[in-house]
Formats: sequence, C-alpha cells, structure tokens
Amino acid sequence: ERRIRSSLRLAGLPYLKTLDGFDFAFQPSLDRAQVLDLASLAFLARKENVLLLGPPGVGKTHLAVALAICTCQAGYSVYFSTLDAMIRALAAADRAGKLDAKLRTYTTKSQLLVLDEVGYLPLSRAEANYLFQVVSHRYERSSLILTSNKSVAEWPELFGDHAIATAILDRLLHHSHVLSIKGHSYRLRERAQAAALATPI
Ligand code: ADP
Ligand code: MG
Repeated sequence: ERRIRSSLRLAGLPYLKTLDGFDFAFQPSLDRAQVLDLASLAFLARKENVLLLGPPGVGKTHLAVALAICTCQAGYSVYFSTLDAMIRALAAADRAGKLDAKLRTYTTKSQLLVLDEVGYLPLSRAEANYLFQVVSHRYERSSLILTSNKSVAEWPELFGDHAIATAILDRLLHHSHVLSIKGHSYRLRERAQAAALATPI
C-alpha cells in the first residue's frame, strides 16, 4: 500500500481519477471493452503504446490518468508530463550540458511514460528532435501513452520537420492502440447543466 502511494506521488499525475468514475454512456464512440482491456495492462507487458485522440474535454487526460493509476497499482513505475513540460525540461537540461541525464527521466526511469497534450503547441525541429529521442529510446522497450487533440495526419505540420515527424510516428504507431474519441466535451456538458440549474424557471 505504501509502495503504491509513493509510486503515485512520483508519477506526478495532474489529478486522481479512475475508470470507475468514467461515464462510458456519455462517450459512445469509445469502445468500453477496449479501454477495459487496456486496463488489464497487457499492452505494458508487450511494450505497446496507447494514443488517445479527440477534441478538448472528451476524457483523454482522465483515461490516461486512470490507466496510469492501474499501472502504479500493479507495481510498475509511471511518469506523467505534458509534452510541453517535457520539451522545456529537456531544452533547459541541454543548455546546461545535462541532456543525457534528463533524458533518462523520460526513458529508462519509468516503465510507463504518459505524454499529455501533444499538438497544442507546434514544435521547432530541435524540439521535435527531443521527442524523437524519447520515442526511439522507448520503442519496443517500454510503453508510452499519448493524448492529442490533433489527428495523427496533422502531426507532421506540428513537428516542423516532416522527416522527424515520420520517424516519430513510424515508431509510435508500429505497436499501438489508437482510440479516437469523437464525442462532445464533458466540461461543456457540466457547464450546460450548471447553467440550466441557475436559470430561473
Ligand atoms: P481532455 O480530453 O481535454 O483531456 P479531460 O480528460 O481532462 O479532457 O476531461 C475533462 C473533465 O471532464 C475532467 O474533469 C474529466 O474527469 C471529466 N470527464 C471527461 N469525460 C468524462 C466521462 N466520460 N465521464 C466522467 N468524467 C469525464
Ligand atoms: Mg487533457
């Protein structure tokens, strides 16, 4: 129990939400059986990746966090970061001449790496190269979960350099589970409900 709590703390999750708290009925485009199968963590043993794609508010981060919690509970190490935070940390370490040590945070130090919010900000070629180094190191060695509001077809535009984008995607997708969520934002649903309650009849 203490080990699980410590591993959850080290994972740096933005919040703690589980699959039990996920309303699958609200998101019919999502295959519940596929998500539950991922929660069995067979993908982790097989070093496969998970891509959670879809517009804002459909539950990508929630699902990534829930899978990360399952992973911690099973005794594996997890590290969670936004893509942007990882790139900034690697660029800073690079400037300080400590890139190799910092790369280990995102490669060998965790059995599962979650990179949240791929695609919110475009990357320069140098920045995309940091992502390439992480992805190619983990390729067939350890799993990645990525979330993105952009479809995979849009990634080359984001990564500044088509050759690097192709190299990243090639490795990411080779052994992967891609879940495309096509529904409505849960955040807006909550807002709409709150507004409905606040409206006098
Ligand atoms: P995004 O796809 O933008 O990462 P989040 O996963 O952060 O969206 O979801 C936004 C908020 O709505 C979070 O508080 C999350 O827990 C909640 N949420 C999203 N989808 C569901 C769902 N199907 N059932 C329960 N809560 C959900
Ligand atoms: Mg999110």
